[in-house]
Amino acid sequence: MRTLKLALCALALFSTGAPAQTVKDFLAQTMKKWTAPFEPFQLIGNIYYVGTDGIAVYVIKTSDGLILMDTAVPQSTAMLKDNIAKLGFKESDIKVILNTHAHFDHTGGFAEIKKDTGAQLVAGLRDKPLLEGGYYPGDEQNTDLGFPPVKVDRAVSEGDKVTLGDTTLTAHATPGHSPGCTSWEMTVRDGNQNRNVLFFCSGTVALNRLVGNPTHPGIVEDYKSTYAKVKAMKIDVLLGPHPEVYGMQAKRAQMKDGAPNPFVQPGELAAYAATLEQDFDKALAKQTAALQKGN
Ligand SMILES: [Zn+2]
Repeated sequence: MRTLKLALCALALFSTGAPAQTVKDFLAQTMKKWTAPFEPFQLIGNIYYVGTDGIAVYVIKTSDGLILMDTAVPQSTAMLKDNIAKLGFKESDIKVILNTHAHFDHTGGFAEIKKDTGAQLVAGLRDKPLLEGGYYPGDEQNTDLGFPPVKVDRAVSEGDKVTLGDTTLTAHATPGHSPGCTSWEMTVRDGNQNRNVLFFCSGTVALNRLVGNPTHPGIVEDYKSTYAKVKAMKIDVLLGPHPEVYGMQAKRAQMKDGAPNPFVQPGELAAYAATLEQDFDKALAKQTAALQKGN
């Protein structure tokens, strides 16, 4: 967990210069984990994990079909479909596809699955041009970070709701990691209790330039407002776009029939946001210092 986060932070330092080779090195290092298989499972209530060992993808089962939350890198789409089938679900039952953010490691299967199913793609308003262009903001020309462009059917802003059958998710604008980074909140039934779940978009610096020629206008303020916002949220179950955000593998290993669900961890989101904020402050200081050195 630590390694990937450090790698992403370190990468951000270089991206103020010429990132192409650095991006290649980074991908060579992470792609193995990102494309490694993971056995799909019911995570909590009507939420199922169908992602890989390094990229989280979820299916939400409703009374009127399936909602798919994100995909993975383009080359993992067949694996995702297998995972969905292993749980007894039909790909053709996917009616809605939601996106946390428009980076290639979460959007690589959208075009294909949308074509297969005719599902409606819903994403954050400020990520719409990225999805429809298939590029990484700030690195538009770098095809290593590209993905098949896909039409967004509905663009959402803070507080917008998406309902399918008996399930409703609320969109929260949490910009920074991407301009339209959207975290999705829903309630699940866990035994005889309701739990508040957040599919947190992400708050890492990743490949983003914070200063000089920033990846998107207002990026620093966007990150800061996101940290403040999520720290104030009352969330019982933190989920994220990569398993290391919430220690998926360790919690999965702890799951036992009749025992409390280990994914229920009130307070985890606020603690995690505090560590993200520290990493962000360090990255900002380093990028600022590099810029002042004339880098
Ligand atoms: Zn990302």
